[in-house]
Amino acid sequence: MTPLTAELPTIGASEGPAGTYRLFAAGSNAGLADHERTFGPLPVHGVDVHFIDVLEAAGLTGRGGAAFAAWRKIAATEDARTGTLISAKPVVIGNGAEGEPLSFKDKTLLAHAPHLVIDGLLTAARAVSGTQLYIYTTAVNIPAVEAALAERHDGRRIHIVEAPGTFISGEASAVVNGIADGIGLPLDNRRRLSESGLKGRPTLVLNVETLAHIALIARYGSAWFRTTGSERDPGTRLVSVSGHGGEQILEVAGDSGLGQVLANATIDPSTVQAVLIGGYHGRWVRPLDYRLSPTGQASNTVRPGAGVIHVLTDSQCGLEATAQILSYLADESAMQCGPCMFGLPAMARVLNAIAYGGGDPQLVRELDRLSKLVTGRGACHHPDGTAQLVSSALETFSADVAAHLAGSCTRTRGRTA
Ligand code: SF4
Repeated sequence: MTPLTAELPTIGASEGPAGTYRLFAAGSNAGLADHERTFGPLPVHGVDVHFIDVLEAAGLTGRGGAAFAAWRKIAATEDARTGTLISAKPVVIGNGAEGEPLSFKDKTLLAHAPHLVIDGLLTAARAVSGTQLYIYTTAVNIPAVEAALAERHDGRRIHIVEAPGTFISGEASAVVNGIADGIGLPLDNRRRLSESGLKGRPTLVLNVETLAHIALIARYGSAWFRTTGSERDPGTRLVSVSGHGGEQILEVAGDSGLGQVLANATIDPSTVQAVLIGGYHGRWVRPLDYRLSPTGQASNTVRPGAGVIHVLTDSQCGLEATAQILSYLADESAMQCGPCMFGLPAMARVLNAIAYGGGDPQLVRELDRLSKLVTGRGACHHPDGTAQLVSSALETFSADVAAHLAGSCTRTRGRTA
């Protein structure tokens, strides 16, 4: 893995990093001294500068996948705290569970820039008067976070809780549940965590990369944040690039073109068959003229999710790759909801039959039927995300589906059965 791919910029503590190299500007394995030398002290905002307003002006969206406006989440928690019915002090959680197998940006961030994450957590907690603070992450990241907390006096009230590392462990309600009971299954998704989360308190869950951006916005302001990216997607985002002979973390401008991101990763587009954007709950796309945009609503845009880009080369079979992912996703069901528990394994069986030799055209119709059956029927997004992946695979690899149903694979040049 290549964690840092650009030269360190020279910046003063009072000005923000220029360009798109922001989050790792303090260097590899940055300790507190590197961090403070590079970014300066974390300012304390007074009542005249309401940080939620600053965040709204910045336009930061969550970097954990759902892309909600960060200021809205914080404002909802603050509203719940000040509401007449709820008086409990909020809980604020930095979510570094990163259960997506193709994502490694949170792990890289916690290893190389833990102090930005901690600064962001303290800033968010201050904005909502939060009193209980957590960093929730997998065992491999805990030593780096512990070492960073040990370096500073203001981190004593931050608790570290180990996440189980399952695919759905990073879902917000699963995070709250994981801290509460150590199991980490999703809760009813109709419940608003901002009103009633951990121990019934207003609870704010923010991805660790979101927190790192918050730490920089707290220092340099909304106008600085918008000096890169676009109006609809300001700032930078981390992307985990995999599948082309290695793994790389890049920090790219918001609204970047996929072709440019691949060029930055030194991947030759002529060797690329398709790209999976957004991870196992994402979409396969080709050609490469898409832009990465949080909502994915405009034409030729695709949601980057948690910033996952997985490249499929010309000699790999997209159907086989998707069938393997689908088998994994079926195994990762939390077995709480019937359509998810039974529907996903059924979908995996059908897609594996198409990929590895079933010549019955009815299989495609059956896969479509099952996808519709599971969509919207789970307590969390797992069935919907899985159905979206399958739908994009059938569309993007339609020629491959026809070849497989006829008994051969054009990619691997072999018989499928
Ligand atoms: S939809 Fe699936 S993963 Fe989500 S809570 Fe229900 S059983 Fe668990």
